[in-house]
Amino acid sequence: MRKAIFIDKDGTLIKDVPYNVDPGLIVLEPYAGKAMQLFQEQGYMLVVITNQSGIARGYFREEQLEGVQQKINALLGEYKVLLDGFFYCPHHPEGTIFPYAINCNCRKPNPGMLLTAAEQLGIDLKQSWMIGDILHDVEAGNQAGCRSLLINNGHETEWKINPQRQPVYVASDLLDAAQFITKVNQHDPTISFTGK
Ligand SMILES: [Mg+2]
Ligand SMILES: [Zn+2]
Repeated sequence: MRKAIFIDKDGTLIKDVPYNVDPGLIVLEPYAGKAMQLFQEQGYMLVVITNQSGIARGYFREEQLEGVQQKINALLGEYKVLLDGFFYCPHHPEGTIFPYAINCNCRKPNPGMLLTAAEQLGIDLKQSWMIGDILHDVEAGNQAGCRSLLINNGHETEWKINPQRQPVYVASDLLDAAQFITKVNQHDPTISFTGK
């Protein structure tokens, strides 16, 4: 079984442009390439976990995410990094497009996408991390049995914390996140955190 970094797409891996599927508008978040490189070097699979309710809302079609994935891989390719998986939830209970307008178990904060990814790719969830820019990402990771880390870049605004939504660490950016996980793996005694 492999270990993985599950990473949210919008506002974590790439700049958040709401409902965007135009590859030309996709840019990496600061340090994303470097951080993914560090993770890959440590043997992590890199798996995107993203809510894409724009499909249920009729803003774009599922096939258009193909170009998004290709562009992200092209940008990460400059750092010799390739994604191992790209999982998206096309649903939303208030959507307008059949059959996507449902309450599903894959839309974060539900853990469905991580559980499916783990099953399909042979991932050990206990050795894996979920990284995101809002507490819904953290909750999805925790529910799936991963350790979770929040990038505090201003995108979380509600801060509805409960034990399910508690991150192991709050990082200032992806490089900070990568360095933290590296230290945990090295059992660095100078760090302390709330995780298992
Ligand atoms: Mg996000
Ligand atoms: Zn879903």
